[in-house]
Amino acid sequence: MHVANSCADAGRSGSEVFTLPHDRRGDDPGRYDVTMDPTVELIDLLGASRVHTHPVDRIIYAKDSGVTAGDPAVIVLPDTTEEVAAVVRIASRAGIPIVARGAGTGLAGGAVPAPGSIVIVLTRLNAIEEVDEIGRTAWVGPGVVNLDLSRALADRGLHFAPDPASQQSSTIGGNVGTNAGGPHCLAEGTTAAHILGVEMVTADGDVVIVGGEAPDEPGYDLRGLIVGSEGTLGIVTRVLVRLIQNPPDVVTMLLVFENIHQAAQTVSDIVATGLVPAALEMMDQPMIVAVENFMHAGLPTDAGAVLIAEVVGHPAGTVVEAALIEEIGRRNDAREIRTAADDDERALLWKGRKNAFGSIAQSAPDYYLSDTVVPRTRFVDVLDEIYAIAERDGLRLMNVFHAGDGNFHPLVTFDASEPGMSEKVINAAHDMVHAAVAAGGTLSGEHGIGLEKRDLMHLVFTPEDLDAQARIRDAFDPEGSLNPGKILPAGARLTEERDA
Ligand SMILES: Cc1cc2nc3c(=O)[nH]c(=O)nc-3n(C[C@H](O)[C@H](O)[C@H](O)COP(=O)(O)OP(=O)(O)OC[C@H]3O[C@@H](n4cnc5c(N)ncnc54)[C@H](O)[C@@H]3O)c2cc1C
Repeated sequence: MHVANSCADAGRSGSEVFTLPHDRRGDDPGRYDVTMDPTVELIDLLGASRVHTHPVDRIIYAKDSGVTAGDPAVIVLPDTTEEVAAVVRIASRAGIPIVARGAGTGLAGGAVPAPGSIVIVLTRLNAIEEVDEIGRTAWVGPGVVNLDLSRALADRGLHFAPDPASQQSSTIGGNVGTNAGGPHCLAEGTTAAHILGVEMVTADGDVVIVGGEAPDEPGYDLRGLIVGSEGTLGIVTRVLVRLIQNPPDVVTMLLVFENIHQAAQTVSDIVATGLVPAALEMMDQPMIVAVENFMHAGLPTDAGAVLIAEVVGHPAGTVVEAALIEEIGRRNDAREIRTAADDDERALLWKGRKNAFGSIAQSAPDYYLSDTVVPRTRFVDVLDEIYAIAERDGLRLMNVFHAGDGNFHPLVTFDASEPGMSEKVINAAHDMVHAAVAAGGTLSGEHGIGLEKRDLMHLVFTPEDLDAQARIRDAFDPEGSLNPGKILPAGARLTEERDA
């Protein structure tokens, strides 16, 4: 879940300050000797211009795009893997926690630093190297901005498939950290499906490579563990990405409905045919109005819901698939079905969709966003429950979501300056998560667990499951110095004896 000021990273206004839970192995705030100041050593290593301790810098890097704030001691901006490793060794000697950070667009508090941490900002490791056009792979720095990668490859007819709505600013390292999704992950899979290997700095400051170019690396799939580990198992310094050939044809359609049930039923019916469109995104009426007022994307503001459906491939296939989607839409009483006439119209539709969260700024000072997944067969039921929760509490709800894969993003707009309002919104959002989980869904489809869902992990994992996950973490980071307090709730380890 995400409580946000509409302006991302808008400082500490309305923020909750993050305190570490009392747990062992790096989750105990008393464990760190944060009185040891590593600043001199860090300046010797990186120079004063890449080491920041000014209070303003510490406020800026205290948050990601949620409002939960931490309290870093030092922010460093290394240029190379060797510098990252040296920073980790300095932190390790001083017993100081470390937080990897990309662009800070995360919505789960994953990059919120534990008190006294060193924040390692990876944005300067932004080289795109070793592009293999035939093998369709490239080694890239974690600081490469997602959209910059696809833009840089456009001349070669290739792109990086995961396209989070934040792709103009979020980094490949952050996408790896959160296993980011995006509208076009419906057919292509989330980030995990596009990462072949990573170079990373371990908690000891060693540099290792996991995964590689072979289609099935022997041994345990450590690459799979690193993707989505939110900086708790290692600091990624280079990424071997899989590249996808740009399709010869793209058809983008806007389906307009009187109500959200018709749109939801259309999604279920499309999926039931076995057709997997490249993207299948939905917005309800309040979201359509917010987007249209902000982006002027040509959306009908009197519609109950719209679907953006996209099919890609050979023209002979896209014609058939688009016709099938149109037929299903008509069967569910779509009042209008429009096909983007050219690249400009297609780009405008996607610009509207991908700026949905940003458009909230015009209608409310704050929003709270949940990221849950529900089975597609329960889509309509859960949607009804979510609207009922908002109505029960008199809250303004908007919905924009990756409908094709059941990834909900109910978003409540509010004014955090109203007394008691933040608590009311958070409670309602928790009820929405409970509704999704009760329907067989899960806690997060793409934003990760971070701080914000950490204490809800027990809804989907048994104590034994959590203990097993804690042991994996301990195997990589026995001292718990990498991004402590994230993902695992306090008390995740079952017994001290079993940990010994
Ligand atoms: C407007 C908006 C739209 C969004 N839309 C989407 C969407 O469609 N899909 C989606 O999945 N998310 C979306 N997000 C959330 C966010 O953009 C993603 O989670 C993104 O992957 C975060 O990237 P970042 O570079 O900002 O990472 P950060 O926020 O800086 O970090 C995210 C996590 O990754 C870890 N991390 C960062 N770099 C590294 C590294 N080099 N090594 C190890 N760990 C690292 C951090 O410690 C943290 O736990 C959206 C956010 C916004 C503000």
